[in-house]
Amino acid sequence: DPRLQAISEAIRVVPHFPKPGIMFQDITTLLLDPKAFKDTVDIFVDRYRDMGISVVAGVEARGFMFGPSIALAIGAKFVPLRKPRKLPGEVISEAYVLEYGTDCLEMHVGAVQPGERSLIIDDLVATGGTLSAAIRLLGTTQA
Ligand code: 5GP
Repeated sequence: DPRLQAISEAIRVVPHFPKPGIMFQDITTLLLDPKAFKDTVDIFVDRYRDMGISVVAGVEARGFMFGPSIALAIGAKFVPLRKPRKLPGEVISEAYVLEYGTDCLEMHVGAVQPGERSLIIDDLVATGGTLSAAIRLLGTTQA
């Protein structure tokens, strides 16, 4: 896809952030480039429209920057997967392991119904721990 090169170049790489040795992929520079930002959303929309997806679940916080645009374009609802103690209603939680310690994602009970097909959006996969927790969270609605 000829759009991918420009998208890749719009993502700034920041060495040693947030700590030594990490090459941080900074998508805020992609958001400053309307063409690359739109192309990014369009690529997901083209890939996931007409697949019976009724839920786009965005992982806090950078999944919130891409998820809602994709949800609106494919005619799905948007469900935020939030860090602990941010959601006011009854929640279900999934813990996941970080390099040091653990973290947790939460979703409102009732936001997703059994049998709904979901698309999970985040900006970056490293170990996959965050994404695995998001998958488990969406999966609990099937129980
Ligand atoms: P994982 O759980 O796969 O190890 O890490 C992915 C999570 O950490 C994502 O939620 C992502 O936003 C964040 N993350 C880890 N490294 C980076 C990075 O280099 N750039 C950005 N933008 N996010 C990162």
